[in-house]
Amino acid sequence: MAFDISAYQEILHQLNGAATLVAVSKTKPHTDIKEAYECGVRDFGENYVQELLEKQPILPQDIRWHFIGHLQSNKVKYIAPFVHLIHGVDKLGLLDEIQKQALKNQRTISVLIQVHVASEETKFGFSPQEAIEIFTQLDKSRYSQISFCGIMAMATFTNDQSQLQREFSAAKEVFDTLAKVMGNDWQTLSMGMSSDWNLAVAAGSTLIRLGSTLFGSRN
Ligand SMILES: *Cc1c(COP(=O)(O)O)cnc(C)c1O
Repeated sequence: MAFDISAYQEILHQLNGAATLVAVSKTKPHTDIKEAYECGVRDFGENYVQELLEKQPILPQDIRWHFIGHLQSNKVKYIAPFVHLIHGVDKLGLLDEIQKQALKNQRTISVLIQVHVASEETKFGFSPQEAIEIFTQLDKSRYSQISFCGIMAMATFTNDQSQLQREFSAAKEVFDTLAKVMGNDWQTLSMGMSSDWNLAVAAGSTLIRLGSTLFGSRN
């Protein structure tokens, strides 16, 4: 079994509509994605542009592809024609490039701002203070082709429940603060992975990104 349908159904049941589930299929073959698709999954998350470009053409065209990895500006052009939501916007320069490629493709591209709330230094994103300052002041009219949909955050890799709660709450606070200035599309708080999604949803997540729970561990 490549896709764990009973785990999927159990999680859907527990979520009870509280959050969207994105199935993170990075490193998994397209046949696993097809299995999940046949169980009704339409939202898939990928981290690597090259891998996404190999999978997208050979899988059903109504899949909503979420780009959840670190995106370099020079790669935006490859995913701009079809990507459903870019989760990891961590630089204004990246927004400029997304605007340019969205115009070229005559479409609007939806993005989430990545906010760094974890204690690890390796994770990308704006600090909470930076995110609030920068996006409150941002001239959104420069980004006519971008839909600002919310925030993406990753918590520290830890079992410490109170630390996870603190980090998710910090992301929720940034999300709520910016909601006052970002417009009607600002609806998505993407946080929670296989090990911590329960806490993330309790803290207000509206979208969880699950890989190993659904597809098994990665090599
Ligand atoms: C890999 C990945 C996930 C899924 O992780 P699991 O622990 O396997 O659920 C979620 N979000 C991001 C950004 C990832 O890179």
